[in-house]
Amino acid sequence: MRSLGNTEGVMVTSMTGKKARVNPAPAEVKFRLLVAEWAKKIGATPARVRFQLMAKKWASCSNSGQITFSTALFAKPRKFQEAVIVHELVHLLVPNHGKLFKSMFLSFIPGGDSFLNDKKQKAA
Ligand SMILES: [Zn+2]
Repeated sequence: MRSLGNTEGVMVTSMTGKKARVNPAPAEVKFRLLVAEWAKKIGATPARVRFQLMAKKWASCSNSGQITFSTALFAKPRKFQEAVIVHELVHLLVPNHGKLFKSMFLSFIPGGDSFLNDKKQKAA
């Protein structure tokens, strides 16, 4: 497993190819790096990743491939964050919660289904 990298600042490349050093909150940087790791593993890259406080969900995925994560995830253990991340990334490949979705999700996060569904909030 590679390092999560420098959390003091991160080089980003915009859609137009412009590079800039930005300094978002360290928790968000760490989370984005985790999303990038899993996106590579799964072979599904979100069009955009955003964060906002969400009352009833941990995350959601739009038809355009944008994933929104609840900022409440920053306080959760890494295993839980990964289960939510993988749930949403698999949705980029399989939009529903059918058999294919479940088997793909569980191949990356064994046992993750029951543990996500135990929680009050759900990954949509
Ligand atoms: Zn879902």
